[in-house]
Amino acid sequence: MDDRWIAERMSRIDASGIRKAFEMAKAMKNPINFSIGLPDFDVADPVKEAAYEAIRAGRNQYSVTQGVPELRSKIQEAVDATFHHADRQVMVTSGTAGGLLLAVSAVVDPGDEVIVFDPYFVMYNHQVTLVGGKTVLIDTYPDFRIRAEDVAQAITPKTKAVIVNSPVNPTGVVATAEEMQKLALLCKEKNVLLISDEVYRAFCFDRPFSTPAEWNEDVLVVDAFSKSYGMTGWRLGFAHGPTRLIQEMAKLQQFSFVCAPTPFQHAGVKALDQDLTPHVEAYRRKRDLVVAALSEGYDLPYPEGAFYAFPRAPWGTASEFVAEAIRRELLIIPGNVFSRRDTHFRISYAVGDDTLKRGLEVLRDLARHCER
Ligand code: PLP
Repeated sequence: MDDRWIAERMSRIDASGIRKAFEMAKAMKNPINFSIGLPDFDVADPVKEAAYEAIRAGRNQYSVTQGVPELRSKIQEAVDATFHHADRQVMVTSGTAGGLLLAVSAVVDPGDEVIVFDPYFVMYNHQVTLVGGKTVLIDTYPDFRIRAEDVAQAITPKTKAVIVNSPVNPTGVVATAEEMQKLALLCKEKNVLLISDEVYRAFCFDRPFSTPAEWNEDVLVVDAFSKSYGMTGWRLGFAHGPTRLIQEMAKLQQFSFVCAPTPFQHAGVKALDQDLTPHVEAYRRKRDLVVAALSEGYDLPYPEGAFYAFPRAPWGTASEFVAEAIRRELLIIPGNVFSRRDTHFRISYAVGDDTLKRGLEVLRDLARHCER
């Protein structure tokens, strides 16, 4: 096939480093897989039943683009009860990723800048590139806190949006209310759209979750059922924000995803009734095990949420360290997949206890490796 058929911008989009680890795991006999951000619990039975029931009842056609009314209004009620904004509308999307792509496509013109905190969830950079925008990275090492002052300095006349994510993939850091408030107010003052990726909102272990939409009614929130309800493959998410923006996103959804999978939208109504506490408590306990195991030999920014930790590699570059870990069948992700730097590595501790113990043992041994 002629290379000319492939768009030039595709050369600026790398295949996902996380997917590569996923493929590698398939080729290993008994890998310890700390590489992928998947909850290790399954969809709750009543939610599965609601999906089977929707399929049996023939709810298999396209839905209206903005989402089936039962689901949309249930999410809208919760959003209205939280924010009391005069103009905040909900739409159902194909996961957080789908909502984000609609948002970025709706607001970023070629040459526009989008501010992203480094380290960042890989998709942000690629989606911005896809629509011809430019990602401007703000380095948050070594504590991974977000500082509105740094954002103020990075804003230029070309800045269209800031993307913030808390709890953060890959660091597990959770923004404080003060940090979010400052960022929200700055974006309001500078007339820049703030997009808040809240897909790990349920997993905050040490402080309550803070959303910037509390202080800025123009914030666009993207969220999903993926992580909180173990439904990553169902592609069910939602976005809420000012009506004008949601309308543009819905217009784009008509010509792209069309709608989120209809039977799963019906089951999503049931999902919203599920109690997430047992899963959150299970991950809090796993987080504590990770922190205890890595307290010696690792510099670990305290992971307060999601199900990730981002320790500094105790020797070598993160890529060299990860290569050694993989030789020992432990799959972890080098920091340069998420960052301009290659100093840290990400572990996902959303795994069974036995796997967690095995992996932490390998990490303890790898830290000792540096003392030899
Ligand atoms: N945002 C962040 C920060 C993520 O880590 C992920 C998935 O790993 C997504 C969005 C994508 O979520 P979804 O599966 O809902 O599209």
